[in-house]
Amino acid sequence: MHIKTFEKDIDQKILVRGKLYLADGLVRELSLEDEGSYHAWVDGTDLYEVEAQIDENGEIISISCDCPYDWGEYCKHQAAVLFAIREQREHASAPQKDMAQKKKQDLQSVLLAQTKESLVEYLLGMAKQDRGLRQSLLFQFGSQEDEMEQSRKLVKEHMRPFGPGRFWEYGEVNNALEGAWTVLDRARLCAETDCARSVGLCLAVLPEAVDLLSYCDDSGGEVGEVISTCIITMEKAIQAGLHILPAEKRAALFRLILAEAMADVYNGWEDFRVDMLKILVLFCQDKPLLEKLSQVLEQERVCNQDKPYRYYSEAVAKLQLDLLERLANPQQARQFIADNLAFTSFRKRAIENAMSSGEYAVALRLAEDGILQDKEFAGLLHGWRTAAYRAYEAMGDKAKIREMAEHFVLNERDGFDTLRSKALTLRRSGQKRLVSF
Ligand SMILES: [Zn+2]
Repeated sequence: MHIKTFEKDIDQKILVRGKLYLADGLVRELSLEDEGSYHAWVDGTDLYEVEAQIDENGEIISISCDCPYDWGEYCKHQAAVLFAIREQREHASAPQKDMAQKKKQDLQSVLLAQTKESLVEYLLGMAKQDRGLRQSLLFQFGSQEDEMEQSRKLVKEHMRPFGPGRFWEYGEVNNALEGAWTVLDRARLCAETDCARSVGLCLAVLPEAVDLLSYCDDSGGEVGEVISTCIITMEKAIQAGLHILPAEKRAALFRLILAEAMADVYNGWEDFRVDMLKILVLFCQDKPLLEKLSQVLEQERVCNQDKPYRYYSEAVAKLQLDLLERLANPQQARQFIADNLAFTSFRKRAIENAMSSGEYAVALRLAEDGILQDKEFAGLLHGWRTAAYRAYEAMGDKAKIREMAEHFVLNERDGFDTLRSKALTLRRSGQKRLVSF
């Protein structure tokens, strides 16, 4: 491979990206260290180190880059550096005067000197070879009506450059997320000023990112970060702008988010579905929307409560409770808690409520029912026993307090460790009473 003709040995797509990297000024500190030995840093998703060895005839002996790219022989960083080396060598051999002049030109002044037509022509040529660039340009300069469509395409373009079925390894995932971040940056920028647009942009990213989880190694958490940024941005946008939207726009936005939440892509990723349903609770000032949401939540809770992972229906039930509490409906909220005691968090709430209103016998009964219900779950059992203990304590039932304390000390390996060690110390020192209160 020769420095003057390396293009014929490198993939076209890589060359285009390399050229863009160079034009964007991402090749930093290119230096000729020894005879023919080049070193450079290339910025991008990360800072990568490129080293190249070129002999006196311009033959490229070796070139390396420490980026994780491994789909082909050469990466865009290497391509960028090769273009930079060639430029540097040509300048070095050019007449002195010309070089001095060229040195002063930065990218901006070079571009400003071009006609609009020649720039358009150049970009069209580049976009023809690089679909990602094409989508970026459409996204950047397209009309706002097309924005959602272009956003979706831009996000997908980066995630599926070779069609579906490709597994993204750890370390490459960032490349797949380039489009997603471009769209999300815009969503964040307009979150405070244009709520509906910001939500729309987030929803162009979210399902694609969730889908990506099933064909990538996200142990670095990059996809997770995109997803949580979508959710947080939507929530922020709604909080900032919902109240100034006219009623029909609020309703349209509500339907949009609801449809997204119920989409199949979130089956198996119910956490994200819950996140979106939670955002919909913010619409509860609108009575018809509130009714619709209540209906959906009720249906989701009932349909899912017998599934092996009750986490989802419990999370939905919590949203229902949140709605009742927001509507300042304490009577109904209490009843709802009482109807859903099978969920651990609801039983805990019911016990707390009973304790704080001095109904210790009620709290005790709830705790005892919990002990019966969760016989097989040591962690839960401990929680219910502790609750029962606190109820006895509040009632001042000394016999029961001692009985339960003994149980903790003698039967439970975890929990009440201090009580246990205290009791053991007492026993060792020869005192007859196991626990004293
Ligand atoms: Zn590289």
